[in-house]
Amino acid sequence: MKEIVLKGIPAAPGIAYGQAFILDKQEFIITPRGIMEKEIPVEIARFEEALIKTRAEILGIQKKMNSQSGGQHSQIFDAHLLFLEDRTVIEDVIKRIKQDKLSAEYIFSEVLKKYIKMFAKIEDEYLRERVSDVNDVGKRVLKNLMDENKMHDFESIDEELIIIGHDLSPSDTAGMYNKNIIAFATDIGGRTSHTAIMAKSLGVPAVLGLKDATLKVSNQNFIIVDGRKGLLIINPSEDTIKYYRDTQNRIQQFRDKYQEIKDLPSETLDGRKIKLMANLELPEEIPTIKRHGANGIGLYRTEFFYMNRVDLPSEEEQFLAYQLVAKEMSPNPVTIRTLDIGGDKFISSLEIPKDMYPFLGWRAIRFCFERPDIFKNQLRAILRASVYGKIKMMYPMISGPSDLRKANAILDEVKNNLREQRIAFDEKMPVGVMIEVPSAAMTADILAKEADFFSLGTNDLIQYTLAVDRVNEQTAELYEPGHPGVLRLIKQTIDAAHKQGIEVSICGEMANEPSLALILLGLGLDELSMSPLSILHIKNMIRSIRYKDTKQLAEKVLQMSTGQEVEDFCKESLKRLAPHVVSAEQGSEG
Ligand code: PEP
Ligand code: MG
Repeated sequence: MKEIVLKGIPAAPGIAYGQAFILDKQEFIITPRGIMEKEIPVEIARFEEALIKTRAEILGIQKKMNSQSGGQHSQIFDAHLLFLEDRTVIEDVIKRIKQDKLSAEYIFSEVLKKYIKMFAKIEDEYLRERVSDVNDVGKRVLKNLMDENKMHDFESIDEELIIIGHDLSPSDTAGMYNKNIIAFATDIGGRTSHTAIMAKSLGVPAVLGLKDATLKVSNQNFIIVDGRKGLLIINPSEDTIKYYRDTQNRIQQFRDKYQEIKDLPSETLDGRKIKLMANLELPEEIPTIKRHGANGIGLYRTEFFYMNRVDLPSEEEQFLAYQLVAKEMSPNPVTIRTLDIGGDKFISSLEIPKDMYPFLGWRAIRFCFERPDIFKNQLRAILRASVYGKIKMMYPMISGPSDLRKANAILDEVKNNLREQRIAFDEKMPVGVMIEVPSAAMTADILAKEADFFSLGTNDLIQYTLAVDRVNEQTAELYEPGHPGVLRLIKQTIDAAHKQGIEVSICGEMANEPSLALILLGLGLDELSMSPLSILHIKNMIRSIRYKDTKQLAEKVLQMSTGQEVEDFCKESLKRLAPHVVSAEQGSEG
């Protein structure tokens, strides 16, 4: 079979080879789940409830259509309703649940497949077209049978697989933790989508934005995922396999060698100290974070705590989680970011209307202002945890001083409340602002007077400055971290902060890339926060260069006029100043 190479967007580094498992965007992975004798009535009841719920949904849609279009098309749904009432189907499912002792969703999906096959064979064209009705209504029933967050049920995967999906949501990827998933690839998505960010936290290679990988790869194809170059190779030749095995070994050797610098200071040759922090999505990452010698946590994305569950986390649950992270990392700081949902991150327990432009809509701090109950719960939990370690807190998506003041007013209210209740918290807990909306960068001089620190969220700052959606593979080429517009905003932010004597960190994905990090240092950043797996790589770079040189590079870069020019220059400078860092990244021998 011929080797086929697909090119996508490198999202998480590393190399993996193994069998592909295609996750069709329309399909759910439903693996057989055994049930006990006493669970049979429960499963049957769940099935019946799902039918009732689906019926109510369809009637609702019909009603809406009747009122909007005079009922012209609403009879399409009559076929759906008929299927739901079909006694043969219902009895078939119930009989098999009893007989096979397997979950309702698995049995129903099997019965559904059987009916779809039957319809597809019918000669009568009208009846044959009913396949899509059966399919549609069947999926609705399945959706109602399954916990929405568990629709992609990775729990039951028990062999090592590479997942290929049209799209994977951040909560799908969060659900892959510790499963036998060794890599993944998707048709859509961009480099700084939260799906890519989660891949890094899971430590698995990922390539996104392959456009039509789900059509080109077949289930059980042997494939290679090259997360450094953004490649997916189908049916690799013997030579290709050998090349990748060797490269993977070399990368591993570089990684092993990095352990030698784990406890050495993160300091340039001329003595400038830069704090290297980790971004944390799930508390399970703490051992990895410690293993990579992080100086603390620069960004704790708390929204992942709200995902993959049917309810919202209580104040107590959140308190325990934050307390655990604070204690584990103590005496190092933990920067907790308040809830940042919306954009590409949704939480099923909240009925958030889908905006046409989700990144510009009801997201992050805007959502918290609308739902002070949820916001205050989180603030209380963070404050209560603050006595157990060194906690800092920051707000996402602040667009200027008025947002900051509004958020701080709510914080003050929560603090007062705690004082009245005589509940201890750190009165001096630093409160910072994420600079990720251009208007925040432009008002950084004002914000710096009212904030304890800044953290540059370049993933968003780039998308908002350049008007390029960070999750869209179609515009991925336009998403330029080195664009002069972006660099100027970063510089302006750092200068404004330093003028007020506050520190600036960066927690966007730019910090992971040594050639860009080189310039960021030269621009005067105090702290870099990144995926834990990148920390030693960046430390290696910092320990190999002089701050003096990075300042000169940054000055030159600020004179350049295009993003391409900047990025080429950064890469070339890194190669010149620290060639071994480039070799380690590519797994090359040089
Ligand atoms: C950012 O925008 O750069 C950031 C760190 O936050 P997030 O990626 O979670 O939006
Ligand atoms: Mg952001």
